[in-house]
Amino acid sequence: MKKDVLKIITEYEVKILSIINKIKTLQDVNNFNENENKIHDLINECLEKIYALIAKFVRKYYPDIEFNEENVASLTWNEDGINLEERITSYIETSILEMIVLLKEDKDIAQIKRLLEFQIVRILDTEAFLVMNKILENKLRKVSKYFQILSDNCCDGCENISEQGILPIHKLEKTPPYHPSCQCVIIYYTEYPKNI
Ligand SMILES: [Zn+2]
Repeated sequence: MKKDVLKIITEYEVKILSIINKIKTLQDVNNFNENENKIHDLINECLEKIYALIAKFVRKYYPDIEFNEENVASLTWNEDGINLEERITSYIETSILEMIVLLKEDKDIAQIKRLLEFQIVRILDTEAFLVMNKILENKLRKVSKYFQILSDNCCDGCENISEQGILPIHKLEKTPPYHPSCQCVIIYYTEYPKNI
């Protein structure tokens, strides 16, 4: 499933980067409002697709679990109580504001674009993995006895977490993402997996 999620993320990254690439002049940066909205809509669309994908997965493999599809933008997961829509809006606004500050400092346009690309991709990645892990937690934690965090090539900190292997579910404190751009996923097991 992570592969499918990454495929969706990549597809949207390409779309978003093509919008950012249209910035050619300082004037374009100052008139970025319309593009800001487009980026915002693309991020939402991407997260909705991921949400739908996970909903399908849960329905297929856990038919007994109720899954009422909700509007993904209105979901709140973090301690801050801010929903997805509000968080993305504020992230994008902050990135654009930083871009304008850099412009005033006379940084060159290529550098500003790179930074904006980096920030937007980071928002997309982090929120996508948040959506994925939180939905799985909400739906599967209560029916699972064990869990495992898979970090792949995330970072050293995450690798330490994943090296702990399969743990009983009561040991699960915080689900990924553990930092911006964290690509860790959590696997839930209803029984201790036999063939590992
Ligand atoms: Zn990670």
